[in-house]
Amino acid sequence: MLNLLIFGPPGAGKGTQALKIAEKFKLIHISTGDLLRAEVAAGTELGKAAKNLMDNGILVSDDIVVGMIDAKISNNPSANGFIFDGFPRTLPQAEALDNLLSNRGLSITVTLSLEVDEEELYKRISLRGKMSGRADDQDKNTFLKRMQVYTTETSPLKDYYKKKGVLVSINGIGEIDDIFNSLCKEIPA
Ligand code: AMP
Repeated sequence: MLNLLIFGPPGAGKGTQALKIAEKFKLIHISTGDLLRAEVAAGTELGKAAKNLMDNGILVSDDIVVGMIDAKISNNPSANGFIFDGFPRTLPQAEALDNLLSNRGLSITVTLSLEVDEEELYKRISLRGKMSGRADDQDKNTFLKRMQVYTTETSPLKDYYKKKGVLVSINGIGEIDDIFNSLCKEIPA
């Protein structure tokens, strides 16, 4: 079973590439950002609690996102594998994911880290904000907050996966299909 992580800062192209990878390798795509936005759109209690945090670039609690991931994995018992997008974002989330997988006899196959510099990230995020209307993409201060959260909370996970020997870094600047081909070369067929 193929279990992939697509890793990188906001605007690195994780969602775009994750969808393409999921289609090619027949994997279930799990994006915690998409799951949370669906809760917000449906007006659930969880969505109401998450909206303000998300609009301000602050992370939702580990328990909530880990619970959503647990449910998604359990609901797809015959999956070929999973691609996790935007999760894990903290060390406790990474440890929880290891437990969720190892309890099922599974592990992370490879963590694909997309490398993109901050100037390019901001260009992409502001463009996405105009097209999608996402509040957290439309405000420069929110972008800076998300970058700060990424730097302090999330980027240390690169070391976590490097130590496990499953980290691969890919240049995330260029044509979408060229980046996709570089990613595919790192995924065991
Ligand atoms: P994304 O679509 O991945 O950029 O996520 C949008 C927002 O959803 C983030 O800024 C967080 O507020 C929240 N979020 C998404 N994934 C997570 C996660 N794994 N842990 C905590 N908060 C998350």
